[in-house]
Amino acid sequence: MTRSIGVIGGGISGLAAAHRLLAHDPTLDVTVFEREKRLGGKILTERRDGYVIEGGPDSFLSVKPRGVGLSRELGLEGRLIEPDERNRGAFVLHRGALVPIPEGLSGLVPSRLSPIVKTPLLTRRGKLRLAAELLVRPRRSDDDESLASFVERRLGREAYERLIEPLMSGIYAGDGRRLSLAATFPNLRLAELNHGGLIRGAVAARTAAVRNSDGTLPRRGFLSYPTGMAELAAALRARIEAAGGTIHTGTTVSAIRPRSDGRAGYDLEIDGLAPALPRAFDAIIVATPAWAASPLLRPWSTAAADALAGIEHVSNAIVVAAFRTSRMARPLTGTGYVVPRVENRPVMAVTWSSLKWRDRAPADHLLVRAFIGRAGRQHDLDGDDAHLTGLALAELREVMGIRGEPEFASVFRWEGGMPQYNLGHLDRVASIEAGVGAVPGIEIAGNMLRGVGIPDCIASGETAANNVLGWLARGHPVTQRESLAAPAR
Ligand SMILES: Cc1cc2nc3c(=O)[nH]c(=O)nc-3n(C[C@H](O)[C@H](O)[C@H](O)COP(=O)(O)OP(=O)(O)OC[C@H]3O[C@@H](n4cnc5c(N)ncnc54)[C@H](O)[C@@H]3O)c2cc1C
Repeated sequence: MTRSIGVIGGGISGLAAAHRLLAHDPTLDVTVFEREKRLGGKILTERRDGYVIEGGPDSFLSVKPRGVGLSRELGLEGRLIEPDERNRGAFVLHRGALVPIPEGLSGLVPSRLSPIVKTPLLTRRGKLRLAAELLVRPRRSDDDESLASFVERRLGREAYERLIEPLMSGIYAGDGRRLSLAATFPNLRLAELNHGGLIRGAVAARTAAVRNSDGTLPRRGFLSYPTGMAELAAALRARIEAAGGTIHTGTTVSAIRPRSDGRAGYDLEIDGLAPALPRAFDAIIVATPAWAASPLLRPWSTAAADALAGIEHVSNAIVVAAFRTSRMARPLTGTGYVVPRVENRPVMAVTWSSLKWRDRAPADHLLVRAFIGRAGRQHDLDGDDAHLTGLALAELREVMGIRGEPEFASVFRWEGGMPQYNLGHLDRVASIEAGVGAVPGIEIAGNMLRGVGIPDCIASGETAANNVLGWLARGHPVTQRESLAAPAR
């Protein structure tokens, strides 16, 4: 008997889940439902007039295995590109001026002190305090600690505000005083526990670099694809459909119900359902943002639904603008800059896309991305697209000295786009996983759980798929009693 699985959400988490299901068992009947007309969720690439425009993620971290791993499975490994080596390095905005990020910052932690000694980002006092990290004893308590508290305790306030916070902001758009260290950078706490401190831990990690099984060093840094991140979503779509899976875009799932025909499994209630769309499934994977997953799961687990609803999300926007290079006051080298919260500006980071990556803009043109909407400054997103474009252009003119008008500017808004792993996040994840885990045949995946980066989301989708596969293999179809009587927990 063919087993059917419904996947709700066609972002990278849901697509990776559907792919894993079919790669493992092509006889499965897998259907993906995606609310938007296009697939990919936050992955959104537009190509026009020689530009490759990323409205969401522009790359993924190579050290986390599932980005490269999935690319390999999809036949995309040969298409992976690294940032343009001619333009290495990035900057921090410091009192209105661009200052290079000191070399040797590995995983947010200085692994070499000499570049720190030279940087104008820290005062002499701040540098001495950072170096004194070697003398700071590990904290005994294992209570969840905020990222800011941890970094200030070990490296001092200046290092936090001027070095670490702006780099971290680029990942979560978050407020380090509320972000959970254990949920965001558990490796930092491990360095403290295992090596006695961050600097010692970073030095040890540098000398004991892990090698691939063939003896080569693993790729480091960020990777993308020549025509943008949408290549990944397109390849997943092609693979899922070639394996017999079905994808419905423009289709919102509004509820998960017990099956109405009296058989085991679940019915999906679908807004504006075309009569022919399949709706009864043996198992379901929910791969939507947390705020969309919460109401879907509430009839099945109150605890999971409450924990999902308790995950704060911030909205953000990317303003993409293109200029003739003749509009620039001076030539630029590097990938862009980050803006510390203490600078008190609406733009939190700027990527010089066409310098970071080759072939992202026609010759003699510069493509730039400005990020707006950090936690605690959500009011910056008030106003229409022209307002946001105005904020971004004012920033680029002031900091980069760009003159005149852009060739074009586009705004990409991500309403509730970034989950915040605030203090207590791992407890919330435990409640979600325990609550959903107790419902036979329903699994959850997504960036609200154990990592917001693309490789983490892939791993999350694949884990959900593996759980469904394991559950089907154990010959454990949802019984009528379990399905119909699943109590709210
Ligand atoms: C501006 C920005 C820049 C980023 N940059 C990077 C980067 O450079 N590198 C990196 O690794 N990560 C980056 N991230 C993070 C990463 O892109 C996301 O965490 C990841 O793409 C989320 O994938 P997902 O599938 O879990 O969720 P989503 O991409 O949000 O997908 C969930 C999907 O579910 C759909 N959906 C919701 N409700 C329903 C419903 N009821 N029925 C059907 N479908 C529904 C949504 O339409 C959506 O398509 C960035 C994020 C943002 C917002």
